[in-house]
Amino acid sequence: MKRVFITLLLANYCLWSLGQGAAALKLVDKDGWTSYLQGNIPLVISAPHGGTLNLSEVPDRSCEGAVTVTDSYTKELAIEIADYLQKSNGKNPYLVICNLIRKDIDQNRDLPEATCGESSMEAPWLAFHEQIDEAIKEAVAQHGYCIYIDLHGHGHPEQRLELGYMLSDKELTELYEKKNVPAKQHSLSNFLARSKGSLQLYDLLFGPNAFGTLMAKEGFPSVPSAQDPYPQEGQKYFNGGYNTRRYTGVNYPQVIGWQIESNMRGVRDKAGRPVFAAAFSKVILQYMEQVAAIKK
Ligand SMILES: [Zn+2]
Repeated sequence: MKRVFITLLLANYCLWSLGQGAAALKLVDKDGWTSYLQGNIPLVISAPHGGTLNLSEVPDRSCEGAVTVTDSYTKELAIEIADYLQKSNGKNPYLVICNLIRKDIDQNRDLPEATCGESSMEAPWLAFHEQIDEAIKEAVAQHGYCIYIDLHGHGHPEQRLELGYMLSDKELTELYEKKNVPAKQHSLSNFLARSKGSLQLYDLLFGPNAFGTLMAKEGFPSVPSAQDPYPQEGQKYFNGGYNTRRYTGVNYPQVIGWQIESNMRGVRDKAGRPVFAAAFSKVILQYMEQVAAIKK
């Protein structure tokens, strides 16, 4: 009886999930852990922390360093972007959305911390990451490159997008002031390699065509950008996590990407989502033209 009830509950949840927005999301697995949208442009967006499906049989994650807070409305924001691109341009980004609550699994961590040792959560972790891998490989095969965005939400006081390129606030400051290029790997390394010296990291972070600069011009303040190059002393800032590092790293040489930590007011809230989706779509299509213009 209990099993029937859970199955019915899950079926209802899945229907509700599919009913969010017009995007033709499908569930990757029968359990409803991950939703997927098939794309037709070289843009893959993952939303790892917006899920609300709480599995009662899975204990809340409590291992050392575990963060369990939900990035509310990031799932809805990803779907809003897909809907906008579809309606206005007939284009579909790839979406990979985690439906499970972060108390059960963290889809922006390597396996041990993601599951806190709960073996039943290994399959959802694999399902999510295999789907990102598949989307990226398909996009790269068809277009020769791919932009990867890991979409999150922050609760910091500064109402701005925090763009994580795997560069710390100190590294951004130094780069801006000294125009020093850090020798380390960051999430735009593949873009620089693709440009064969014609682009500088400084320009990709602070220049007129940097993603942050373009978003700020559309009314969405961003750090880093020409307008707000680096976080000031004492300001909180997320600079990218496991997914950004993994999917823009050496195993994905055609992928250019970054983490977006979005603020709530005017971005993730109900009034903000359609406005943000329109601005993001305009800017990311412009950005894709920049990448495509560089002939391999
Ligand atoms: Zn997050």
